[in-house]
Amino acid sequence: MNANETIDHTTHADPGVRMPVLFVGHGSPMNALEENEFVEGWKKTTGVIPRPAAILCISAHWETRGTFVTAMKQPRTLHDFGGFPCELFNVQYPAPGAPEIAAETREMVVKTNVGADDHWGLDHGCWSVLCRMYPAADIPVFQLSLDYTRPARYHFELAKELSALRKKGVLILGSGNMVHNLRLIDWNRMQEPGFGYDWAIEAGEKMKTLIHDGNFEALINYSSLGKAFDLAIPSPEHFLPLLYALALKEPDEGISFFNDRPVMGSLTMTSALIGSP
Ligand code: ZN
Repeated sequence: MNANETIDHTTHADPGVRMPVLFVGHGSPMNALEENEFVEGWKKTTGVIPRPAAILCISAHWETRGTFVTAMKQPRTLHDFGGFPCELFNVQYPAPGAPEIAAETREMVVKTNVGADDHWGLDHGCWSVLCRMYPAADIPVFQLSLDYTRPARYHFELAKELSALRKKGVLILGSGNMVHNLRLIDWNRMQEPGFGYDWAIEAGEKMKTLIHDGNFEALINYSSLGKAFDLAIPSPEHFLPLLYALALKEPDEGISFFNDRPVMGSLTMTSALIGSP
């Protein structure tokens, strides 16, 4: 975390006004340290949304059997990756937890049982983004896990039940990547933002069109969208956080995209802001 970064995000949400919802393409955990166009995009977004009372992150990197929210007072920073420089393992994001809002969230969801978790913390899908958006780490953060035993529709329906959090000033942040195929990454082109394989660009464009058209049904059924989607979503965990964000969109709200670029061939950093600032 860079303590020198200061962003003016002092405007608080008015009570009862819906907080926007975010989906962020997180990409490499090195975004926690590097200065690049994607980090710039995240910082700009911080500037256009009201300061959240708390942040609920749905990260690709917390998969569980059953659904849980983190309920601890002080979540630890999880360095849940390998092969990165020491410097990255030294990053801490000491934001407080949000045990009370986590308890409210558990009560709010009626279609399934949401458990309280005391063991997880903040994984890199969460902190690598938040340490750039809110470097002061002074906003309480909690996470909701992805139940890997459940289909896409379960996640979409569950997300709808979180809607009341928005009026409590909670920023709901889905963190994944719309197109994410680690096996096919071209590591040699890491420093070449904008490089995407044809299928990655095709799937990314189709996703944006479906989102723009409000055709979330097609996205829930992504496995029947053809070969480009099969390659773009070889496993669901980086895609599902997008469905959480989309499920929370109200009919009167718009969606704007930012960081809309592929990287390393088989990833897109495309992010979406839902709701008017
Ligand atoms: Zn990831």
